[in-house]
Amino acid sequence: MSRTQLLHDNQSFLCGHCGHGVSPLAYGGSQRNHCPQCLYSRHVDIRPGDRRSACKGMMKPISIWIQDNGEWSVIHRCSKCGALKTNRIAADDNELLLFSLAASFLSQLPFPGHRILGHMQNYSQHFCMDKAQDAV
Ligand SMILES: [Zn+2]
Ligand SMILES: [Zn+2]
Repeated sequence: MSRTQLLHDNQSFLCGHCGHGVSPLAYGGSQRNHCPQCLYSRHVDIRPGDRRSACKGMMKPISIWIQDNGEWSVIHRCSKCGALKTNRIAADDNELLLFSLAASFLSQLPFPGHRILGHMQNYSQHFCMDKAQDAV
């Protein structure tokens, strides 16, 4: 990719949610598609990077998706049309917000947490023992 293309794809923009001036990616990566400060995005793509969506609604960060290779993505939900999108995180994204998105599951369990923790310990012990036996 030439430098001109790179600049074209990563143009600076003002965040529509918090007003933060978002500059092109400082640490590499393919594309800046969300605000590193509040993690909001804008619904501009139909397919990643095509900028062909007419919606233009603000996309709220609602959760974290960890891909099979361990890479983190933010799941965004459009506040206008409800579309769900995933966007890879960038090196300068707000770590505290990323963490609280990931931890929000544990702080809002739909069942008593102490009960499931007991089950989890039993389950993981059982699971690890099975794995050890398989390896022999
Ligand atoms: Zn923002
Ligand atoms: Zn939308």
